[in-house]
Amino acid sequence: MKVPLLDLKPQYNALKQELNDAMLKVAESQYFILGPEVENMEKKFCEYLNCKYALGVSSGTDALLLALMGIGIKAGDEVIVPTYSFFATAGVVTRLNAVPVFVDCDPVTFNILPSDVKKKITKKTKAILPVHLYGQSVEMDEINPIAKENNLFVIEDAAQAIGTQYKDRKFVGTIGDVGCFSFFPSKNLGCFGDGGLITTNDEKLYEMMKIMRVHGSQPKYYHKVIGGNFRIDALQSAVLNVKLPHLDNWSAKRRLNAELYTKLFIEKGLSEETGKISFDSKNKVLLPKAIYKSDSVKNYHIYNQFIIRVEKRDQLRDFLIKNEIGVEIYYPVPFHRQECFEYLNSVDSDYPNSNFAAETSLALPIFPELTDEQITYVVDSISEYFNK
Ligand SMILES: *Cc1c(COP(=O)(O)O)cnc(C)c1O
Repeated sequence: MKVPLLDLKPQYNALKQELNDAMLKVAESQYFILGPEVENMEKKFCEYLNCKYALGVSSGTDALLLALMGIGIKAGDEVIVPTYSFFATAGVVTRLNAVPVFVDCDPVTFNILPSDVKKKITKKTKAILPVHLYGQSVEMDEINPIAKENNLFVIEDAAQAIGTQYKDRKFVGTIGDVGCFSFFPSKNLGCFGDGGLITTNDEKLYEMMKIMRVHGSQPKYYHKVIGGNFRIDALQSAVLNVKLPHLDNWSAKRRLNAELYTKLFIEKGLSEETGKISFDSKNKVLLPKAIYKSDSVKNYHIYNQFIIRVEKRDQLRDFLIKNEIGVEIYYPVPFHRQECFEYLNSVDSDYPNSNFAAETSLALPIFPELTDEQITYVVDSISEYFNK
């Protein structure tokens, strides 16, 4: 049986007519950049996420860059970022000649460790950039007070977490000062190319980032500040307008898939429960744990990725790929070990949880249209690997 890590075709096929019609409508209008389709999308995201302002932008990376420019990050400023994330989180900081300051992750959630954030604050710190990694919220009730006490901005990297909720059902991306989302095709809500979104409840920040999205121009050809081309296409917005109403169903399906994985791994004796952080004979596979729940919603994790951890991870990966199961390593090299950040002279032993995650984590297929048979085949194959 073949199990791809991600297959986008079933989702397209299910919405084909609507998507094709929406794209053709844009072609007929010949209105390609920003404009009514984009404004309509921004309004819909404000309603969905329950925030005041949203700006469609060119990518998740550009959302982060524009957010940092919007809060006025300059050369030499320090921005606190988790060391275990996708590269863009730290890359955008250095593109403004600011300094990324790395923080270790929580051993259970993989998210930035609030206690470690506190230790890294200096007079130069301007912002904290927490990442809601793999689709689960950061402990924002601990991050926000630290930021407030020290007069720092909080920029949420919610690229993997569109629709993720936190305690009392707040959507991530609306809890800090600015939220940044990505619509790269492999995210839970993907467009047909690159796209992103910025959210905020701060009117001044919104106005500033809106101007910066078009080279800092207002009125046209008069530049108060320096911005860039951070615009999203009408075509991408048209695709997102069709897809957004389905997002919650897709997230629910991902949760069901995660539940089935968990049940099967426990039945096979490969794991005792979710959230374990060390290996032993009863826990050869460490399973991800959803932390935030309520009575009505079983959990708030949207599983952009389903990450297990195993010893000798690369051997298991090779075995699964041989068995036609698509798996991936997110992320093999934390920022403090990246060659391009050698100049920061990080101390490797300061990041034990991130090093452990980078060395043991493996992403299994979790996309909504996966069948129960495919999930069973994945777990059976992993069981076979451990028992051979
Ligand atoms: C995907 C991703 C980004 C970048 O988004 P793009 O749209 O690919 O530019 C940033 N941060 C994280 C955590 C991501 O997963």
